[in-house]
Amino acid sequence: MSTIGFVVKMCKICGKESEHKVIRSTNCFGSSDLDTRPPEMKRSTMHLWLMKCPYCNYVAEDIEHVSFKKDSDGNIVENHLENVQRINKLIHSKQYLQCDSIKFCNKLAKDFYRQYLIGKSNENTRQCMFALLHCSWACDDVKDQDNANQIRLLLVEYIVKLLETEDVENMKESLVIVLLDAYRRTGCFDEMKVYAERVKDELTDDLIKQLFSYELLLAEKKDVDCHTVSDAYNTLGVFM
Ligand SMILES: [Zn+2]
Repeated sequence: MSTIGFVVKMCKICGKESEHKVIRSTNCFGSSDLDTRPPEMKRSTMHLWLMKCPYCNYVAEDIEHVSFKKDSDGNIVENHLENVQRINKLIHSKQYLQCDSIKFCNKLAKDFYRQYLIGKSNENTRQCMFALLHCSWACDDVKDQDNANQIRLLLVEYIVKLLETEDVENMKESLVIVLLDAYRRTGCFDEMKVYAERVKDELTDDLIKQLFSYELLLAEKKDVDCHTVSDAYNTLGVFM
């Protein structure tokens, strides 16, 4: 089970205090989805992965912190005041409040999208990528298929960018599977096969290779459904 606590946080943008629920502990029983979405109970804690300031609508994993904009070498390129002013301007914009005019079906998807917009403003590809992945899951949960697809197509762009521009060595091969899964879930089978062909010889992890094969098998069947690592195991047999 998951245990929940409460914390009082002072918003880094507006300076006001508010109370927030936080996860004290949770667990995972069963198999993750192919795109790394965890099983229960953690699966059902997504609404606690973000805090939102009730006064200024700033969204972050922890609203007492803000991410700074950095250059390509990782050096911070703005001072604290510039940082807060930039984010403050963004979170009061129509773009942020109306989520680029995307009509999401649930509040959670909106907030993950806002986290993406903040990441975009910070030019933080990694933050954008994870926010979009979580946004797609929030859309899935309310069967908001059109927006789930739209977000996954955007997610593909950020995974490709992340793989090409940053050192993601420890999660590189997992990201390849998340990317293939995003292509497949949106029905972009041709694009998926082109990408798969390009990276197939670069994979080294045996489990990843099996998931790679399973994604291609699903694509052959034009299967756009959500599947788990366990599904791959049951279909392909024993992992090496
Ligand atoms: Zn605030």
